[in-house]
Amino acid sequence: MNISEAEAANELMRLAKAIAHHNRLYHAEDAPEIPDAEYDALVRRNAELEAAFPHLIRPDSPSQAVGHEVAASPLGKVTHEVRMMSLDNAFSDEEVAEFVARIRRFLSLSADEPVVMTAEDKIDGLSCSLRYENGKLVRAATRGDGQVGEDVTPNVAHIADIVQELRGDGAGGPIPDVFEVRGEVYMEKAAFHALNAHLMDEARAQAEAKGEAFDEAKVRQFANPRNAAAGSLRQKDASVTAKRPLRFWAHGWGAASSLPGESQHEVIRRIESWGLPVSPQFRQCGSVEEMLEAYRAIRDGRPDLPFEIDGVVYKVDRIDWQQRLGFVAKAPRWALAHKFPAEQAETVLESIDIQVGRTGKLTPVGRLKPVLVGGVTVTNVTLHNRDEIARLGVRPGDRVVLQRAGDVIPQVVDNLSREEERPAYVFPDHCPECGSEAVAEEGEVDVRCTGGLICPAQRTERLKHFVSRAALDIEGLGEKTIDEFFAHGWLESPADIFRLKARKDEILALEGWKDKSVENLLSAVESKRAPDAARLLFGLGIRHVGAVTARDLMKRFETLPALRQIAELAHQKHGEEEAKAASDAYAELISIDGIGPVVVEALGDFFHEDHNKQVWDDLLSEVSPPPYVVETKDSAVAGKTVVFTGKLETMSRDEAKAQAERLGAKAAGSVSPKTDLVVAGPGAGSKLKKAAELGIEVIDEAAWAEIVKAAG
Ligand SMILES: [Zn+2]
Repeated sequence: MNISEAEAANELMRLAKAIAHHNRLYHAEDAPEIPDAEYDALVRRNAELEAAFPHLIRPDSPSQAVGHEVAASPLGKVTHEVRMMSLDNAFSDEEVAEFVARIRRFLSLSADEPVVMTAEDKIDGLSCSLRYENGKLVRAATRGDGQVGEDVTPNVAHIADIVQELRGDGAGGPIPDVFEVRGEVYMEKAAFHALNAHLMDEARAQAEAKGEAFDEAKVRQFANPRNAAAGSLRQKDASVTAKRPLRFWAHGWGAASSLPGESQHEVIRRIESWGLPVSPQFRQCGSVEEMLEAYRAIRDGRPDLPFEIDGVVYKVDRIDWQQRLGFVAKAPRWALAHKFPAEQAETVLESIDIQVGRTGKLTPVGRLKPVLVGGVTVTNVTLHNRDEIARLGVRPGDRVVLQRAGDVIPQVVDNLSREEERPAYVFPDHCPECGSEAVAEEGEVDVRCTGGLICPAQRTERLKHFVSRAALDIEGLGEKTIDEFFAHGWLESPADIFRLKARKDEILALEGWKDKSVENLLSAVESKRAPDAARLLFGLGIRHVGAVTARDLMKRFETLPALRQIAELAHQKHGEEEAKAASDAYAELISIDGIGPVVVEALGDFFHEDHNKQVWDDLLSEVSPPPYVVETKDSAVAGKTVVFTGKLETMSRDEAKAQAERLGAKAAGSVSPKTDLVVAGPGAGSKLKKAAELGIEVIDEAAWAEIVKAAG
């Protein structure tokens, strides 16, 4: 990925905020500001960045949550017995092939073993869970945040597609005692347009009756059929729902006392036989080629469908495989939504601005003649870096092609004025913020300001990162306030934030500050005197130490001084005594899953700088983070560090690690004195030897399977 770490961190922060905002509008208020393709683009971009920079994943990342909280809903709450998941997205054929390849690797399947998948159109509706007990509908709930949804039982009584009692057909055995059908409530396109027209007529009639002027622009209509469906279903007064022509189809299940089949298609066909509609395009595919054929067929038929679809969903057919594959964060490993591509548009690149980030990186931002792409007006686009500008050959005044393939936040994909004879854009060789020289180090694409701490852009960006939500999360200390306090010389480094109370009168003298707001700010600062150690570490903005990496480090070392000590030890390189200590320290750091040489190097470099040590000491004189505590689950290996080595025969290495994590254990890559347990298969070599030297317990794969089984 052609972007620097600092830029990625910044963008992830912006994405987390933006996605949370749109989630709320969409799920809680049924009033989105942006079309789905744009929302998908944001989520997608977030996932891309997280894949490229896994150590930057934020605790508040949208990938860590599903949907919205239902706190503000007037409807009753329903806790889902089995969590309602969302799906990972793909936008290209290659990603679909990779999805299947990943499944093969995870399940250790041989190349000739067929992986049968199901494919069906992904309808653009509202997820709903229908709980049937002894065949009778007892509860209907929306997805909500995946764990807790809203009770819409009285509302779905008005949806003809949803039967109140499942029909046993006599042939397929009994209906399970408990069975939760999951599917989508939706509204057809024609009904959606009719509803909007009706809302308009109603508003006009009301205005006329009251003798008021009628303003069309003020009538609240639904943005798309899905929002119309959501707004119609989520009504406190079910009689409103009754007037809206809602439909439903089933595509899966949640809690079930037993399953009427061993594959996705068997169970879906059974649900259909019980009287609930399923997608008419549901089918099985025996290969990636067949999956892509299904995708193209469904995509080409899309305009003729009476309802909106936004992609194709693939699921692993065998349910025992689904169970082994399990879940990552909020999505199953065994399902994928292959989304349809979004639009392109042409516009003029009016100018190129340069922004300076926390690490001094100069990022070019294209200012565009506003243009509608996929239903959204776009005015800015990132041009990433100097090389990207050269690749596109763009200059102010060029006509460019923008794309919002689910891919990304809008991107320039082509320059239509490339052939025109005008001078090339010259990338600045000086920082626009401080005037220092701006250079790209050898082998680097990013041009950075060399001003370091004399560059106000870098210093303020670092402070903003320090107080941001994923770091210290100091309420009331926003970006504008940081800029303002910084300009007054009150914030030289993070520790100064904790000395602001001495400036109470000076702050009060600033425009816009009142007793109450100053008090709130200072008490927000005081409330962070004993901060979470991992957030503090992340907030320092050490290169390559993202939120997840910071947590991984603190889980192992618990306190910041302990971490510093080992990082400094690992970094020193002279004298034999030291060399031994350094290599032990290095090995210990590297043995942490997710920590590689790049992170160790970056930590060493950080503590090598006197200035950084001063910032660190100064900060720790103001705050005292308590030792980091790891939450553990209840299992024989909870809280322990496990190393897998040798050839595993019933599962892949990834599956083994995923099992360990589910049981609350840490899976490490190499054996160290901190290792509690080694699971060894045939051919285990040096790790097994090392475990023996250190006296660490070693078990085989069968014994591990017992532990997994015992934990349920
Ligand atoms: Zn600068």
